[in-house]
Amino acid sequence: MIILPKKKKFYITTPIYYVNSQPHLGHAYTTIVADMIVRWHRLKGEDVFFLTGTDEHGEKIQKAAEQAGKPTGQFVGEISEKFKAAWKSLNISFDDFIRTTEKRHEKVVMEFTKTVYDKGDIYKGSYEGLYCYGCENFKTTTELVNGRCPDHPTIALEQISEGTYFFRLSKYQKKLLQFFEKNPEFISPVNRREEIINRVKDGLKDLSITRPKDRVKWGIEFPADKGQVIYVWFEALTNYLTAVEWPKGKKFKYWPADVHLVGKEIVWFHSVIWPAMLFSAGIEQPKKIFSHGWWTVNGQKMSKTLGNVVDPVEFSKKYSVDIVRYFLVREIPLGDDGDFSEKALINRINGELVADLGNLVYRVLSLVEKFKGRIEGNPQLDKKLNLGKIDGYMEKLELHNALAEIWEFIRATNKYVNENEPWKLQGKDLGNVLYNLLESCRVISILISPFLPETSEKINKQLGTKTGALNKCKFTKFSGKIKKGEYLFRKVE
Ligand SMILES: [Zn+2]
Repeated sequence: MIILPKKKKFYITTPIYYVNSQPHLGHAYTTIVADMIVRWHRLKGEDVFFLTGTDEHGEKIQKAAEQAGKPTGQFVGEISEKFKAAWKSLNISFDDFIRTTEKRHEKVVMEFTKTVYDKGDIYKGSYEGLYCYGCENFKTTTELVNGRCPDHPTIALEQISEGTYFFRLSKYQKKLLQFFEKNPEFISPVNRREEIINRVKDGLKDLSITRPKDRVKWGIEFPADKGQVIYVWFEALTNYLTAVEWPKGKKFKYWPADVHLVGKEIVWFHSVIWPAMLFSAGIEQPKKIFSHGWWTVNGQKMSKTLGNVVDPVEFSKKYSVDIVRYFLVREIPLGDDGDFSEKALINRINGELVADLGNLVYRVLSLVEKFKGRIEGNPQLDKKLNLGKIDGYMEKLELHNALAEIWEFIRATNKYVNENEPWKLQGKDLGNVLYNLLESCRVISILISPFLPETSEKINKQLGTKTGALNKCKFTKFSGKIKKGEYLFRKVE
């Protein structure tokens, strides 16, 4: 009997999106990035699990449903479907789409809360303070700007006093700091790390983790007190465990998460509160919290009032799904802020997509079409490919650098055409050049597949080859059946 080595596992998550708004560019960006990372790990033959979903509880949603004049369950169901549809149309290859209103989640949240409660980390108290309905959270006076919440300056704060249960977050201050020290890449990129560490050093307050049911009805009941529901953040973070069937399901083999991909506005919850919750419940920590930046549109903040909210699905219909995917990831390093403009998008199309990639494939196929001889030869162009470097960038989540390196290879292949002038060659010499070009195109189709899945498929169709795993990026015998099709991309004037 042959015992195969156990496949490496890879578990990546996006945040679960709050269903009080429609999917927009920010959501799409996180999800597309996660999709590219997971597709790369699939190419490497790993056992991957990719989770996304929707966060459906809380006061804000209860209010939004009331305003829309719909039963809350129906309201959240409709928006959740919109997210799912958007991800399907953007070619997102998620393995699971979780909704926090599902029974499986409720069950895990109850069990998780009970575990933390039994540990002695939850106690009853009362809370009095200024409450922001935008954040669904109490604010300390030091957080306020001009007496208002800095994130919701148009919403008046309310003085509220109520009975609540607290999670002993303060107890974990030292343990968290030690953990950050030992795991320097846990909070990435590093510029976010310092900020978080300093805040933790300043001291942690215990966290109110329940809300009275007479105010918030739309939530999961707190197991130890039926008059309370669990605070939406405490509950929502647990989704990462629900999906992998904590504590004992088969899928728990995927835990710990390799990457929790988040926007920078929710780093605190993921890098401080979530680890403290996991410490309390005695569960292993995730490996990395990676926070990405925000997008502006033509230099301005995206907002409904300005009417400049970018709908990624609409753009993908106007150009193509692959073009939108490519642009978002090539334009800025992951972790930085970026600016979305149609002009920049068109520059990327006409440059890298049309002039480099599209042009190469079309040229190669046109040459092959005219040639009547045997396509075979010795590998030459493979020396221009640095697969290790590309993989290294992907492991560090430097997707823009990985793409730049793939494009180095595409440009090297274009250069090879110019230098060898195959239109002047014939017989064996021409067969050799064409062999190198075709193998090169086939390898390119594999390399770009996580980023541009549709384009990769098109190239495969034209070459008459099948896409393969990353280990098929070696030059072997070319055995495709050419069927020249259309240009991969059209120039935009
Ligand atoms: Zn607020």
